[in-house]
Amino acid sequence: MSVGGVTRFVVVGGGCSGMLVAAEITARWGDRGCEVVVVDPAETPGRGVAYATSSPSHLLNVPADQMSAHPDRPGHFAAWARRRDAGVGNHSFAPRMLYGDYLEDVWREAQQGALSVSSLAHRRTRAASVTPAQDGNTVHVGLEDGGCVDADYVVLAMGNLPPRAGAGLAPAMATSARYIGDPWRPGALDDVTGSVLLIGTGLTAIDTALALVERGIAGPIRAISRHGLLPRAHRPDAPAVHTAAAAPSERTVRSLIALLRGNPDTSGDWRRAIDEFRPHAAEVWRTMPEVERRRFLRHAARFWEIHRHRMAPEVADRVGNLIAASRLSVRAGAIEGYREVPGAIEVVIRRRRSAGREVISVSHVINCTGPQLRVSEAGDRLVDNLLAGGVVRPGPFDLGIDVAEDGAVIDAQGVPSPRIWSIGPLRRGVEWETTAVREIRSQAVSLAARLLAVEAPEQPPVRADAQDALPSRVLTTIANAIVSPGVERAGVVS
Ligand SMILES: Cc1cc2nc3c(=O)[nH]c(=O)nc-3n(C[C@H](O)[C@H](O)[C@H](O)COP(=O)(O)OP(=O)(O)OC[C@H]3O[C@@H](n4cnc5c(N)ncnc54)[C@H](O)[C@@H]3O)c2cc1C
Repeated sequence: MSVGGVTRFVVVGGGCSGMLVAAEITARWGDRGCEVVVVDPAETPGRGVAYATSSPSHLLNVPADQMSAHPDRPGHFAAWARRRDAGVGNHSFAPRMLYGDYLEDVWREAQQGALSVSSLAHRRTRAASVTPAQDGNTVHVGLEDGGCVDADYVVLAMGNLPPRAGAGLAPAMATSARYIGDPWRPGALDDVTGSVLLIGTGLTAIDTALALVERGIAGPIRAISRHGLLPRAHRPDAPAVHTAAAAPSERTVRSLIALLRGNPDTSGDWRRAIDEFRPHAAEVWRTMPEVERRRFLRHAARFWEIHRHRMAPEVADRVGNLIAASRLSVRAGAIEGYREVPGAIEVVIRRRRSAGREVISVSHVINCTGPQLRVSEAGDRLVDNLLAGGVVRPGPFDLGIDVAEDGAVIDAQGVPSPRIWSIGPLRRGVEWETTAVREIRSQAVSLAARLLAVEAPEQPPVRADAQDALPSRVLTTIANAIVSPGVERAGVVS
């Protein structure tokens, strides 16, 4: 129930997901009046983990014309970026830090666009607890700075869980200065010199290797994972496809693998086939039999990920050059043990399909296994409190939290909350493809519309990709300021 006619929202987490949904709620509420508070420790909402990097080597892994913050304005980011750097084309893979600047601009724009009856504010701390009040109408958000904010609705937007730093390591190793559990932590790579072992060979490992090379690291970089598979690259000559194919009729791992192998309807181009499949991914995942989803996670997820999340062509070239120059090596195998010795860490490695063991000596070991996926092992204060209080329950396969199709979180009793909602990577177990901007921006629009429908049921329903995602006044301001004619492309699916 709103207080004094003003509806109060707290968005926990101010990365791309939290910022976009907060902006969308503020715009959509229009002259109804709302107070939106984004709780996040960052200086300004928007960048989150992915776009807070200061490394120019870190590029988006999606072409500029697909990175708009607004599903209904496909050329928005590309046009904005060209105002900064005329060399950014529609199909360029722009620096991630530039994208972070863009998201901060979207945030400022949303604050300026808020009508006088509304406010969009940032509280620079972390949330420690989210507790529904007894009356069922209010939610208390406890903050790590000791404060508390009450809200009518809370959106959980905490993004990816931090990496499982130290998992499987002896306690002495996990606390060693030579072991870096989270390469995304600001300053994490500052003291790394000499030779390095990266645990993982995915996009996090690639980013870390490029950042180390940029810093002039002397020694070789080795990367190891169970399969030793690197992400595939985007094709330099062909833009990714935006259109949706017909939804696949089969809900089996076999049909997804066939998709990867190339569909004859798409001239056997697996990249195009995957891109065309994406708009259906959440629905296919939701309706896949449990046994098939389990099979996918056990046998196919790794292969899916390296084809689905591809390197920019420039990044693939740099990686190829580093490998050719023996500055980077990638191997398949398992780590069997670590030992810290003066000046180094000795790591025992068993190569894949080999009984033999090898001991390598490196100055640092960096955990590049990516975000922790299992919510019950999150080790995060807020997530642990939410689970312990029964406010949320783990999602399918312990991936993220359980949510209804509209994003309402489902509590320990299996009841969808009318007050607490979620967006982004936390929906992983339910939607699978829920981490990239393309999915997040659509979720932001449909969640804001859903919240308005809950609070003001007389409102007509609005589709996620509707042209009126923002009030026309804000749209006009943005259009005048940013978008040049001709950059929008018709028939694009977000
Ligand atoms: C390295 C990397 C590169 C990527 N590149 C691309 C790309 O090129 N294109 C693309 O489409 N997608 C990309 N992605 C996907 C990316 O996850 C999404 O684009 C998006 O950034 C996710 O945003 P988020 O807000 O959900 O999560 P996050 O970015 O993780 O942000 C979550 C925020 O919540 C805050 N938070 C967490 N817990 C609390 C708490 N208790 N209280 C308050 N705040 C809290 C965190 O501090 C953080 O600021 C990339 C992801 C990564 C990790």
